[in-house]
Formats: sequence, C-alpha cells, structure tokens
Amino acid sequence: MNFDARKYVIITFVVLVGLIYAMRIFYMQVMDDTWTLRAQEIAEKRKEITPPRGVLFDRNGKKIVSNRTYYNLMMVEADIKNLDTVAFAKLIGWTREEVRQRFIDIREGEGVYRNKHTGKTTPNYQKIRAYPFLKELTLDEIANIAPHLEDFPGFYEEVTSMRSYPFANGANIVGYLSEVNAEEVDADHFYKPGNNIGRAGLERYYEKELRGRKGIRYIVTSAMNNAIEPYADGKYDTTALQGPALKLGVDILLQAYGEKLLQNKRGCIVAIEPSTGEILALVSAPSYDPNLLIGKRNISTNYPKLLKDPNMPLLPRPLSSEYPPGSTFKLLNSLIGLQEGVITPESGFPCNKSVVGCHNHASAGNLADAIKHSCNPYYYAVTRRIIQQGKKRSNFEDAEIGLNLWAKYMHSFGLGQKLETDITGLRAGTIPDAAYYDKWYGHHRWAFSTIRSISIGQGEVMLTPLHMANIAAIIANRGWYITPHFVKSIGKNGPLPEFRKKHYAMVESRHYATIVEGMRRVVHEPGGTGKRAQLKDIIVCGKTGTVQNPHGDDHSVFVAFAPMYKPKIAIAVFIENAKGGGGFWAAPTAGLMIEKYLTRKITEKEREKIILEANFVYK
Ligand SMILES: [Zn+2]
Repeated sequence: MNFDARKYVIITFVVLVGLIYAMRIFYMQVMDDTWTLRAQEIAEKRKEITPPRGVLFDRNGKKIVSNRTYYNLMMVEADIKNLDTVAFAKLIGWTREEVRQRFIDIREGEGVYRNKHTGKTTPNYQKIRAYPFLKELTLDEIANIAPHLEDFPGFYEEVTSMRSYPFANGANIVGYLSEVNAEEVDADHFYKPGNNIGRAGLERYYEKELRGRKGIRYIVTSAMNNAIEPYADGKYDTTALQGPALKLGVDILLQAYGEKLLQNKRGCIVAIEPSTGEILALVSAPSYDPNLLIGKRNISTNYPKLLKDPNMPLLPRPLSSEYPPGSTFKLLNSLIGLQEGVITPESGFPCNKSVVGCHNHASAGNLADAIKHSCNPYYYAVTRRIIQQGKKRSNFEDAEIGLNLWAKYMHSFGLGQKLETDITGLRAGTIPDAAYYDKWYGHHRWAFSTIRSISIGQGEVMLTPLHMANIAAIIANRGWYITPHFVKSIGKNGPLPEFRKKHYAMVESRHYATIVEGMRRVVHEPGGTGKRAQLKDIIVCGKTGTVQNPHGDDHSVFVAFAPMYKPKIAIAVFIENAKGGGGFWAAPTAGLMIEKYLTRKITEKEREKIILEANFVYK
C-alpha cells in the first residue's frame, strides 16, 4: 500500500469513527430510552426504612404513647421467580388458595386510576412496587418465616412499629392510626401502601412531626435482578430519623381519675392550667381503651363496634358537643354589665318570680350575692340593661345595637368560634347576634323581651365544654387566656407561637374581683349553690348550672377554678341527664378533681363514693 492509499484509509477510518460516535450520541439522546428506564429502575430500588413514630409524655414525664416493634412480610411481584405456591403457603401457614386470593386482594385493593380526559382506566397496582403481603407479625411469627425467605425471591421482611398505650386513658386526646388509602399515597410521597397515618386526636394534628423522616437506601441490582449492592457505596443513602417526642400538659393520672369519676355517665370534664393554657385533662365519657384501635387486626373488629355504640365513645364530647351553658353564663353577663357601666358591684334587683322562675332565697342586694344565689330575675334585669341601653328611641333599633355589642364581648371570651387548639373535631358553638335573630323574627321585629333567655344561658346560646373551661380560666386570670392546647414542647422546642399569645377579653381586669368573690360565696358560704365542691384547705371559686333538656333529665354543669389567688387549675364539668342539678353532681366532681390535682389525695371519701356509684346511662 502506498502512502496516499494509507492516508485515504486513515481519513476514512477517522470519519467513520466520528460518524458512528455522533450517531451513538444521537441515539442515546433521542432514540434510546433504556437510559431513562435504567434511572427509573434504580429509583424503584429505593428501599425505605420507616422510623418509629415520636413518643408522647405527660406533664410529669410519664410515657403515655410508645411503640412496639412488629414485622411486615413485603412482596415485589416483579422480583418473584417461579414461586412454589405450595411451599410458600406451608411456610406462612396458609392454604394455596389463600395465597392466590391474597395476590388478587392486593392488586384489587389498590383500585384503578381513571383519566378524566380519555376516560381510560389503569390499575394503580404496579409490579415493581413493594406491598405488604402479611402485616403486623410478631417477632415469634416472623422468626419462623424469615430464615426461609431466600428460597422465595421477591419476598422480604420489613421492620415496622405499632403504637402501644401504657395507660388505657385519654383515647379521645391521643387518637389512633390506621393504614393510608390510595388517595393519601398519591397526595403525599411520604406514604407507601401499608404505611400508617394519624386518624384522630394528636396523632392526626401532629402527623408531620410524629412520623419522622424516612431512611432511604439505594440498591443496585444486576441484570439478573438478584445481586444487590449499595448504590455508590451508600453515598446518597439517608438514615431514618424518629419523630421528636411530644411533651403534653396533660396530667395522665388526673385524666385517669376523671374518667373513673364519669364511669356510667355521659359527659365531660375539661381542666386547664390558667397561666399557660395547657389542658390538664380532657375527659369524654364514655370513652374507650386506646389499645383497642392498634393495628389493622384490632381496628377491623373493634372500630365497627365502637361506631355502633349508642353512647358514642368515639365522639370527643368536650370539643364537639354543644350545650347551652345554663347559669354558668351569668358570670359573663355580670362582667359585661360592669364594663358597660349599667350595673355596679352594689346593684341589687328583686327576685321577682313573675318575670321568670327562681328558687327560694332572699333578694340579692349586690352582685356577689346574685352569683351566690344564681338568681334568674336578677340576670334578666342585668342583661336587659346591657341590651337596651336607650341609644336609639326605637326599642327594636336599640336592641339591635345592644345585642351586637353583647355578641362582640362574647367573642372576646373565645365564644361563638372554634378555639384553635391542637386537636381536630372542634365546634364553634353559637353566640346569637342581630343578624341571627333577624333571620328568625325579621329585621327590627325583636327586642330584649323576645330573646331574654340569653340572660341565663338558655335558648340559642351554645358552648362546648372546652369553651366553658376556658371561661373559668379567663376569670382565674382576671381577664385573659392563652388558647387551650395539649402540647408543651415538640422535641426541644417550646409550644407553638400561637400557644404563647395572650388574648384579652373586652372586660378590664378591675371588674373581676366582684365576680371571683361571688364564685367564692357559691362554694364556701351558707346558701351557696355549689357547696359540694368545698375543700378544707383550698378556696374553690365556682358557679353551678342546670341545663334544661327537652329530651330527658336536666344536665348538670359546674365551672370553677382554685385556689382563689394564683389559681393552678380551671375546670368545667358537664354531666348529661344527671337528676339534681349542677350543685348536686357536677360541683362535687369538680371539687374531687381539684383536690386530686392540687394535693394528690382525696379526703372527701364519702363524696367520691357517691359520684363513683351514680349511673346516668340509660340501658
Ligand atoms: Zn332569684
């Protein structure tokens, strides 16, 4: 070969190589999608490690929600090779038919995705995804299975954890977990089929904190799809991080005691630390043992039963039951009357029973005595002065202005709106204003005489027991509140900023002394309606209420705080269908709760026995 010929060959070779190279690049970028498939394959080989959820402690460091380790037997259909169904069924103790059916159930359980534009449906189930084949196995159960899994490629064990509740109390506070549905998996990439999510209570409100951070391990598989090695030496792996611990303001022993007092009753107890707004106890009766709703096996048998129970144990009554506040509402009408200057602490009104019924007592010559006797005619007179201040010549226009002002005051006490606490299921209650009555009676067609039952907390006014306890906290603080809440700290961080803010009611603090003195007389003076809340060494300030119930026996209500100075606890007790009124049942229950919290012991054993034995649940 001469030089020219050789040169020609070399040039041809270079050009050809260049051409092939260019084509290869073009092919890689445009034609060949195995590269993207390869990337996807690696992504699908992410192995997720779900950490145990954050645990919950009560205010004294008692663990009230913890975790127990369980195992899931996971399955990836794409990795299954020549499954020996007989051997596999034998390993897990099932029949062949049950194994086959389980595959079908997993596939169908995922449902289908329907494209809105084309109308085409595609199954959500994907062969390359991991699904739990068996769930919630104990260590003993998985120990029999795991050593043999190498004979069954496509199956592997996964450590998981489930909740455990050392105390059988506070179910309506902590809530429960259950498995995510297909929509939740789509909406939040954190979740994979088989994961749990908070369904109610604090588990739901603090889901994002409690669930922690998942760990991810990237795994490279060979062409045969079975040799496994960490991808890039684990450089991109992240470790699982348990959610932070939540410390609650709840005193679990007080909570347990409250639940015991309300056994065989329907009702609520809400106790709050006035200075911080921390909820000390939130009793909803009847309740249930939170351990009944741990895991799929338990939930499927127990949840339907709880749901069907006519006494509604799943209902968080203190947050979502609305009741008329009854005479406890007189405390607020007193405060508004003082602030508006339409009464003074020395104002007296006759107990005129021709206006509205009352019990037998001497007419109240001052405000504190009116509270002590809970005099109905007195409060008609006070509230009339608030609503009809004579600002307009027309009685109707005057009432419109007066009622809207009154409603504004009530809103400043957190009423007629949801108290934005850290739990779901809250109701707003009702504080009627002019627009509300216009709908009922027509514009300028009503005046105080039409709506006067609001004077004594009946009629259209509705509050939740949480609202009522918060009223006690506001009076204990002489004029302000911090939104009642459960969580004191999340890990090392203090309460959320919204739970540090003081909200001031529209009544100045100087007006509270008379009301507090009236509440002291209710409990500690002869003729007071709440004497059964009395304690020997602690001054309890309280107010009784009896709520008329068109469906049966009256409800018994009591709000209180103690001690009188530097109060440590504010409380509302609401007992449904308790014959005998607020003084008879709710007051002693509140007294026992206060003593338990402040002294850790009970001296009034006889009183305790009567409450424990009372049964107001109709069977
Ligand atoms: Zn009276």
